[in-house]
Amino acid sequence: MNGIQFYLTENVTLSRGHQVYADAPWALTSISQRQFWTDYNIESRGPESVEDVLSVIASDWETPGNLYGIPAKECTREEISAEIWEQLKTHLNTKQTRLSDEMLIDYFLDPAIEETEGGVKNRSPLLINTVGSLKLRPSANVGIENLTLASDYVRTNSDLASMESANEAGRRAANAFIQKQGMGRPAQIWELEEPDLFEPFKLQESIRYRLGLPHPAEVSQSLRSVSNKLLINR
Ligand SMILES: Cc1cc2nc3c(=O)[nH]c(=O)nc-3n(C[C@H](O)[C@H](O)[C@H](O)COP(=O)(O)OP(=O)(O)OC[C@H]3O[C@@H](n4cnc5c(N)ncnc54)[C@H](O)[C@@H]3O)c2cc1C
Repeated sequence: MNGIQFYLTENVTLSRGHQVYADAPWALTSISQRQFWTDYNIESRGPESVEDVLSVIASDWETPGNLYGIPAKECTREEISAEIWEQLKTHLNTKQTRLSDEMLIDYFLDPAIEETEGGVKNRSPLLINTVGSLKLRPSANVGIENLTLASDYVRTNSDLASMESANEAGRRAANAFIQKQGMGRPAQIWELEEPDLFEPFKLQESIRYRLGLPHPAEVSQSLRSVSNKLLINR
């Protein structure tokens, strides 16, 4: 997984949350940022004409794309951005034009995607915790006087490398510091609450997994590659 931001002249607000492009060969997901940053002064951060930022993540770097017919890992950085933009338009512009080339002012592809002789290398791959690894992860309070850890790999209730987990690790690190200094009010820590609504789906998925059947959401190329990755990581 890695991401790119497209800077647009229009506030596109595609959906209020993450959008999955089930038909995109590179397993794209996106989020229109502007709607969530209502009090953010975007004008002060770049060209005045920028009205929205569309953040896109590509999860499949091995399936050939539509534009160049090669996988992302074999493309140049420029080809990656052009291909992702093309796949977005293919998905979104079926009934009406929701994205057009005129709207695109600029883009920013993560610099961690580095060009090499045989394509690109991702210097900042997404960490997905594997089953059973929680007990192996370090706690925020490592027991050394002047060292605490505040990062998504720390052992947390959130138990998944994510912004929530990084936040919880930060709280735990602050608490370790407060404990060592013997002063201050500890930051709150929460248990992980999972909505009961998902329990039947989780049960169904685990039975299918044990029977060697595909994931129930495996309806498209895009979702297939995402679920395959999850299976590999189990
Ligand atoms: C493509 C992608 C999509 C994601 N999507 C989501 C999502 O939708 N929701 C979610 O919750 N999480 C998501 N995550 C995970 C989330 O971004 C991370 O879990 C979280 O940002 C980790 O926070 P952190 O503070 O531990 O580390 P980071 O955010 O990685 O911060 C570490 C910082 O330390 C800096 N650094 C590293 N080495 C040094 C050094 N030697 N000296 C100084 N600075 C250094 C780095 O440059 C970086 O800024 C995603 C991650 C990726 C890669």
